[in-house]
Amino acid sequence: MYFASDNAGPVHPKVMEALTAANAGYALPYGADPIMDEVRARIRALFEAPEAAVYLVATGTAANALALATLCEPWETVFCTAPAHIHVDECNAPEFFTGGAKLTLVPGADAKMTADALRAVIESEETRGVHGPQRGPLSLTNVTELGTVYSVAEIATLTGVAKDHGLATHLDGARLANALAATGARPAEMTWKAGIDAVSFGGTKNGLMGVEAVVLFDPARAWEFELRRKRGAHLFSKHRYLSAQMLAYLEGDLWLELARTANAANARLVEGLKATGVVEYAHPPRANMGFAAWPRAAHKRLHEAGAAYYLWDGSLDGDDPDEMITARLVCDWSARAEDTARFVELVAG
Ligand SMILES: *Cc1c(COP(=O)(O)O)cnc(C)c1O
Repeated sequence: MYFASDNAGPVHPKVMEALTAANAGYALPYGADPIMDEVRARIRALFEAPEAAVYLVATGTAANALALATLCEPWETVFCTAPAHIHVDECNAPEFFTGGAKLTLVPGADAKMTADALRAVIESEETRGVHGPQRGPLSLTNVTELGTVYSVAEIATLTGVAKDHGLATHLDGARLANALAATGARPAEMTWKAGIDAVSFGGTKNGLMGVEAVVLFDPARAWEFELRRKRGAHLFSKHRYLSAQMLAYLEGDLWLELARTANAANARLVEGLKATGVVEYAHPPRANMGFAAWPRAAHKRLHEAGAAYYLWDGSLDGDDPDEMITARLVCDWSARAEDTARFVELVAG
């Protein structure tokens, strides 16, 4: 019963096979490998963006920080939500790689911002002339950090507010596959057609060993991104092993199959836990992650049975067996039906 994180899961066997197959003979380094040519062509086709620049990096933090650095000047500020990964989980890498840009938080429930809040926050910046931060890019995350999902229409509305102010837009897609599986949208619809300029197409949390693609829909930004990736120490010399993982992910839409599987596992968990009558979900769990509270006594049963997940608040130590404690539950592609069922049984008691 492993629900701690989708990056704690295994690498999909097809990806391991692709790595073994790529491990034959010589291939040119630094992204000049023939597999990368295939990856570039397939990602352009998948995103219906024949001109897009496509790069691979090994962490989502690198993808976000390098993409934002390419979209943002040091004296600007990036608009994001308070729970945004770029704000709380990247050790100030966006600030570092942009050369000192700051982040301005846009309020909103469930890790989603509204157009009104975004407009108000944008208009409250760049009001102090040379003394204050200048307005910079909008950064959204889908699936959000709280397991909720923006619809294509919501993304388009928010990017519209950014564009009204002449601002660029970034989408943290560490779980983009899960958001696409949840909404049924095509990659193009959720990205450039909805006004997104740069997106990361995550793989690590969805069955790869460690690859995220950065897609820049404006090829004029490509060279700067390449320079920043090299200078930021994220240009891999033995690049074919990144390419091979991504190609396996694209082959037969494995990315979508794995995201659907993970989302379905979470849906089973949500349905089962809600039916126990003792579980309260904090945010609408639309993809493969949820935040739910149930009594301490049930947490203790799970803990003793070896279930793995993070507590979001509270602690197992405490006398009150009925105190509600919130957990974060994340399903990856390998979550099995018997494990979600057993988890629910243990909560039910
Ligand atoms: C996991 C995650 C990332 C990437 O994190 P790394 O640990 O740097 O690979 C980026 N954004 C979100 C929303 C994430 O959940």
